[in-house]
Order: sequence, then C-alpha cells, then structure tokens
Amino acid sequence: MSGILDQTLHYFNKAADIMGLSDHIREMLASPYKSIVVQLPIEMDDGEIKVFTGYRVQHNKKRGPMKGGLRFHPSVDLNHCKSLSSLMTWKTALIDIPFGGAKGGINCDPKELSESELERITRKFTNAIASDIGPLKDIPAPDVNTNAQVMAWIMDEYSKSAGYAPGVVTGKPLDLHGSQGREAATGRGVVFICESLLEDWEQPVEGTKVVIQGFGNVGHWAAKILYDKDAKIIAVSDVSGGVYCEDGLDIPALYDFVGEGCLLKNYPDYDKISNAELLALKCDILIPAAMGRAIHKENVNSLQCRAIVEAANSPITPEADDICFEKGITVIPDILANAGGVTVSYFEWTQNIQQFNWGEEEINTRLKLKMRKGYQTVTKVAKKHNIDMRTAAFIISIGRVGKATVLTGI
Ligand code: GLU
Repeated sequence: MSGILDQTLHYFNKAADIMGLSDHIREMLASPYKSIVVQLPIEMDDGEIKVFTGYRVQHNKKRGPMKGGLRFHPSVDLNHCKSLSSLMTWKTALIDIPFGGAKGGINCDPKELSESELERITRKFTNAIASDIGPLKDIPAPDVNTNAQVMAWIMDEYSKSAGYAPGVVTGKPLDLHGSQGREAATGRGVVFICESLLEDWEQPVEGTKVVIQGFGNVGHWAAKILYDKDAKIIAVSDVSGGVYCEDGLDIPALYDFVGEGCLLKNYPDYDKISNAELLALKCDILIPAAMGRAIHKENVNSLQCRAIVEAANSPITPEADDICFEKGITVIPDILANAGGVTVSYFEWTQNIQQFNWGEEEINTRLKLKMRKGYQTVTKVAKKHNIDMRTAAFIISIGRVGKATVLTGI
C-alpha cells in the first residue's frame, strides 16, 4: 500500500465489503465532494516572493456542515488532505456530532517562517477559500502546526467580508470566543478512552505503564492528565528522540523544559532512547501522538504493548494493523481515540452560534459521555462480529453516513 490515501480507502473498503454496501453508495462515500487547491503567492520578510499551495478537501456534508483541521506541514498535499478529510467524515459520524468531514492545510514549514509571514499566508489562504467555508458550510480547526492564533487570523479575515463570525473556525483563543477545555480536548479524550479500556481489563489507571510517542499538544495533554491520575508514563519523545524511566517520568518538569524551546534529547536526567527503542518498550498502552505511519511492517514486530490508542491520525499502516490484530494487540482507532478534539470543537461551535458560554466542568463532563459512548458502541460491534475495533468503527460510521445519504437522496 503506497500512501495515506490508499490506507483510508483500504479501511473503508474492508468495512464496506462486510456491510455489502451498494456500488453507488460506495462510490459516493469513498471520494470527496469537493477538492480545492489554491495558489498563495506571499511577499516574504526579505522582499522575495514565494508561492505556497493551500488545500481544502470537503469530503462529505450529508450529516451537517463539514468539519476538520488545517495543518501547516511540508507533507501536506492533495492526497493527504483527501485521506484525512475522509477520516473526519467517519470520526464525526462515529462520535455522533452533526458535522461532515473536511481537512486542509498549506504545504509549508512553519519553523522556517516568521510570525508575520505565517499571518500573511494564513490570511491569503482564508481569502482564497472564503466562499467555501462558513459556520454552516465548513468549519476549520487546528491540526498539526496550527493553533489558536492561526484560528484568530482566519476568523478575523473571514469576518471582514461575512460579518462577525466566530463560528467559522473552532479552537480559537478564549478571548475570541474559543471554548474552555478545547486545547486539552484531544488529549483528554484519549485519556477517557484509555480509562474505558482499562475498565474492560479490570485494571486501575494507577500504575498502568504508558509510552507516548510525541509531546506536542495532544501527546503532552494526554501525558499530563494520565500523570495526574497516577499512571506511570515510562517514556515520551519529540522530534529529537525520547526520554525513558522505568519508574515513571516527571511529566510537568519535562513540559516546562520543552516549553522553554528545548529538545527532550537535551534534558539533563533520564536515559535517552531512539524512536525505534521507544516503540519497542514493554508497556500496557502505547500512544502514538506524532505524525502518520509511525508504526509499519518493519517495526511492528518489535512492539511489546498490550494496546495502542491512536492519538495521531493514521499512525499505523494497514499491513502493521493486520499484524497487531494477529499478535493480539488491541488497537483503538484514530477516528475514536482522537475524536475528543472535534467533539469539543462541536461544543465551541454550539456556544458560538447560541452566543452563550459553558464552563469547563460542563465541557469535560459532556466530552466524557461522548467518548465513553463511542467506545462502548465500537466494542459492542467488534465483539458481535468478532472483528477489530477499526473495522467496527468504520462499519458504524459508514452506516450512519450511508443512511443520511439515502434519506437526502442523490
Ligand atoms: N484536527 C482535529 C482532528 O483531526 C480536530 C478537528 C476539528 O476540531 O474540527 O480531529
């Protein structure tokens, strides 16, 4: 399987085969509704002109306005966005929020851009896609290398022509009608899923050995919340490599260190390990929270975890996914495990369109209900048909989007 697009289609087709989905519904659900590619010429700080490419792929809108993040990364291209937009359709359907799926981004490396260059690119991109987004059309959100500030620029730029419209993006700063709990939401959702899994295992969270690949927004929040619940986070990593301690790492201290712009490999304490060594550690739960395709057929046989909770999107290739199933490693798929982010995005959007604010406790309680219900629904279908949780999740989602498609007509 060559790329990320084939990967999502593979999972889609696997579920569609079991469901006996008709050819025309299959065709409608497999490909995106609309793919937008825009040219973004930008004047850089030194006066030079550089041309970037921006993408927004709108996959499906049968269950509501389309929803999904924007990533700014050199790996962003049309196939990437097609694949990730389709995952958003299945994710929103699975967690049962009234949205379709979309994804987009800009092919760039934000590490090489100044703040003002980043702002100019973001505003130019917003103008280029302005007629295709909106609170009732398509609502972008943060993803890899985008954050609340980027959302603030998009909201401001969009509002210049459309009128004040906080509901056009989610993941905004709190001072600009963002939601309590949104920043931590994906990581918190991952923890709710870990808790449900541990309940099934009849194992307490305290002392559970966890390994986390990635220490960005999602990885760090998952680590912090699990640490506060006395789980033992024995290893975490960033782009520079990992730190390891069998007795459990001091997550707040590591976060302070990384927050000062330092790389984990320079942390004064703990053993340093490579990414490959980190993935091969013996643990209860492995949480890949970095980029896609981190676990593949070359490294999957070294895994020694009992379960993988996919905090990143598409962190396991299909070949490796099959091997995990054969080895008896439980894999909780991305469309369930990392759905906490888009779920609180839904709460943010709901607050925006009602012009009303909810407190953090209410958000977290509602998030917990959604994540637990998602977990229970998926495990029930997986057990009933004796299939892996990913296929079960796709079956549920495809069923819901399929029904909406049939009801709305062609
Ligand atoms: N980027 C996140 C995801 O992949 C959140 C999307 C959203 O909040 O719309 O689920």
